[in-house]
Amino acid sequence: MVINMSNKICTKCILPDTFPGIKFDDQGVCNYCKREEKALAKAAAKKTEYKKRLDDLIQTHQGKAPVYDVIVAYSGGKDSSYTLKLLKERYDLRILAFTFDNHFVSPFAFENINRVTDKLQTDLIQFRLPWPAGKQLFSLTAQKDIFPEATMLRASSICTTCIGMVKPLVLKTALEMSIPMVAFGWSPGQAPIQSAIMKTNPAMNRRTQDAFLKSFPEETKKIISRYLLPLSYFEIYKERFPYNIHPLAFFDYNEEKIKIELNTIGWEVPSDTDTNSSNCLLNAYANHCHIIRNGFHPYVWEIANMVRQGVVDREEGIEKIYTDQNAEMVAYAQEKLGL
Ligand SMILES: [Zn+2]
Repeated sequence: MVINMSNKICTKCILPDTFPGIKFDDQGVCNYCKREEKALAKAAAKKTEYKKRLDDLIQTHQGKAPVYDVIVAYSGGKDSSYTLKLLKERYDLRILAFTFDNHFVSPFAFENINRVTDKLQTDLIQFRLPWPAGKQLFSLTAQKDIFPEATMLRASSICTTCIGMVKPLVLKTALEMSIPMVAFGWSPGQAPIQSAIMKTNPAMNRRTQDAFLKSFPEETKKIISRYLLPLSYFEIYKERFPYNIHPLAFFDYNEEKIKIELNTIGWEVPSDTDTNSSNCLLNAYANHCHIIRNGFHPYVWEIANMVRQGVVDREEGIEKIYTDQNAEMVAYAQEKLGL
């Protein structure tokens, strides 16, 4: 394993000196660590409260909708698999799993998706965009950072584009089928506990969607629009906007334990992807492009958060982030996109 450590990194988390706005004190601790300190203590104290809130929310909605209680954005990765397992085994919800096929879902991930949904007796929808559309969107975002800088701190352009389609597609399905809850498998480093149980609303979603669409050049706006929420839906379904939940923010999170528990439902650690994504064959190339343009790894914010929270060891975090991207995986995606 090659560790590329040309950066000076924070002695507490793992943010590098190339991260925008970073400063270090005499001990080499970064300003982000200091800023997060209080928020972290507060978040840790809130976990029990959030579990109770989720129990209450589920009690209110379970069994009321026509067919499903919750739709889960399901990539086949360990975090969304674990979220699915939690919602099924702890609450016995009626679940619809939703998988977005971006043409880079690994064959191994599909095997996991099929095994897990069979084992948990969960219905699954697979949504696949046509390859010419995928190729155009991912080629564009491989070559250019089209989103605002604040977005680029947390994810690559390619990942942001993909997730930017997944969210409205899942919401659209929830609205059409009258599903009261939408679940995501965000890790505790990806999204804060404050947003872990949140009623969505048309106005906020509309703003987010407009901002996302605005980032695309004119010739691609038409392609991406097809995967967004039709404007009429904000009015027609305004009473149906669901709750977004991401339970991993407040349930105990330990990667090794999660993998062991997932083994019991047929999920296996993939052998065909890189260290940061267990399901997407585009991920290594997305990271590679982001590192070249921005000078830092697009997952460093998430992993630094998890190091501060104590859910990932600092050494392990360093290995995840400062290991060179798998050259074969980078070449595979680059070639497929014709770049
Ligand atoms: Zn730090």
